[in-house]
Amino acid sequence: MKRFQGVGASDGIGIGHARILATHLIVVDRWIEPEQVDPEVDRLERAVALTDQGLADLLRHWQAQRRQEGSAVLEAHRMILKSDELAGASAALIRGERLAAESAVRHVIQGIVDTFEEMDDVYFKERGGDIEAVGERLLRTLTGIGEGRPPVPSAVGEIGVGAVLSPIDAYQLHGAGLIGLVTERGGKTSHLAIIMRALELPYVAGVEGLVREVHRATVLIIDGERGEVIVDPDEETRLTFVQRNERRLVRAHRLDAGAGRLASTADGTRVHIGANIETLAEIPRAVDRGAESIGLLRTEFLYLHREDLPSEEQQCGDAIAALKALGGRVATFRTLDLGGDKLPLAVRIPDGANPSLGVRAIRLSIRRPDIFRAQLRALYRASSFGPVRIMFPLISGIAELHEAQAVCRAVREELAREQIPFDPNVPIGVMIETPSAAVTVDHLADFCDFFSIGTNDLFQYAFAADRENQDVSYLYHPLHPAVLRLIKYAVDAAVRAGKPISVCGDMAGDPLYTWILLGLGVRELSMAPRYIPAVKSVVAGTRLAEAQALTAEAMTLRSDSEVEELVVASMQRRFPLELAPGQ
Ligand code: PEP
Ligand code: MG
Repeated sequence: MKRFQGVGASDGIGIGHARILATHLIVVDRWIEPEQVDPEVDRLERAVALTDQGLADLLRHWQAQRRQEGSAVLEAHRMILKSDELAGASAALIRGERLAAESAVRHVIQGIVDTFEEMDDVYFKERGGDIEAVGERLLRTLTGIGEGRPPVPSAVGEIGVGAVLSPIDAYQLHGAGLIGLVTERGGKTSHLAIIMRALELPYVAGVEGLVREVHRATVLIIDGERGEVIVDPDEETRLTFVQRNERRLVRAHRLDAGAGRLASTADGTRVHIGANIETLAEIPRAVDRGAESIGLLRTEFLYLHREDLPSEEQQCGDAIAALKALGGRVATFRTLDLGGDKLPLAVRIPDGANPSLGVRAIRLSIRRPDIFRAQLRALYRASSFGPVRIMFPLISGIAELHEAQAVCRAVREELAREQIPFDPNVPIGVMIETPSAAVTVDHLADFCDFFSIGTNDLFQYAFAADRENQDVSYLYHPLHPAVLRLIKYAVDAAVRAGKPISVCGDMAGDPLYTWILLGLGVRELSMAPRYIPAVKSVVAGTRLAEAQALTAEAMTLRSDSEVEELVVASMQRRFPLELAPGQ
């Protein structure tokens, strides 16, 4: 038995036989005669065209299945394949060095991967994986080995093991019945990870040296939460994980059973439960899990991987696809939240010593009206296809809201002049993510239609503790008296102004905090779809007076640890199933 530590990139436990997926093709350098150069470049071009044809066929297939997110990735891969950086540079190496086509492609891929690897930024590092995956695909065409990994349904219980896989593989492997993935490269923010989370399959990334340790049918355990991989587990370890997994599944099954019902407390107070969405592929599952709406669509995630900016057309198409998948439910589109830790390839964002205190989110949108207007036009156009809400991230006060509203107004006037249909009454919302917004909700309420509290950022800014920095994560506490006061202040002000207010940060998806949020007056929660069943179950098992009493007592305490002690004791006693540790 051997244990490996990687990065937990998508929750869940998988126990099964290894299926080796993507070993790198080994290409031995080969040189050609001068008269072979032109035919060799032709051979490369034919291979590029053939590989592109394969991707185009797959794209058509996926579009027919409405796999929007996968389709976007495929389009990006087609662009990479034909780019100067890959196809162009390979042809130049054939001409310049008289290398055979496959040797040239291998050198080019390696050069690109090395460059990305040297970057400090994790996000950019992981983008190298997409290029590598496309390059491997081209190499397989050139060497006649073909695409590899056809989606043949596998025996139940196989875990894919690869050096590097592309997000496209995630879909194909899911179709082939694989129950999880491990890769030597990659990390939490890769698009493969995003898609694995959307498919709700366990995935452990960044497990160096794994491929040479496993053979077909080696038994593996993967834990996508803790990032652990166990090769050839002994019987005792296997049993421990089998039992943990059974507990997880029983719990999920029991909770899922009630997820379809609308959430109401035992004494009849309705609580609206929405879903947070990062890929369009997640929407059907969110609806199955009982989401009544999308409370937060993080639009930037649809486009982070692109080398260019998405056109208005593309954004409008994606918004319409989301609305169709929702079948009449409301979709809340949060406008692009770029900057901070989310740096797209396509936009140059002014940097500063503290990126999360710099040009980020609405601040960038206001500085780049070209980007902002294209997105707003797309969202307004989509509004004639279903109920749309637009929400601004990181509003810090009324002046910023006025500026953003002015762009909305200009876009509405423009569309009206162009006689393009849209809903003129699309509700405009403000995310409460800065303390300055939280304590001026009464003022903001005069100029917007709804609020949503982004607790992830609100805590970061309230405690002056970078949400990405492990060293200060101990300061980041959802039960700190300051948090309770900020949320209470914001909720009371919104209620007084008659404007709906929800919570859509991670706090909303943890059943430990459901009573506190209900007690603070929150009646709308939005969370990752997988957390909906547990939260709905807590709501159904709650009498509002109990939640209010707990919150009132919590508000008298002075430290987060005192509040936590109180809340954990009450919630664990009442909701052992919903709060099961480690699932
Ligand atoms: C938040 O800050 O709580 C939020 C929901 O937005 P994000 O996590 O995307 O910053
Ligand atoms: Mg935020």
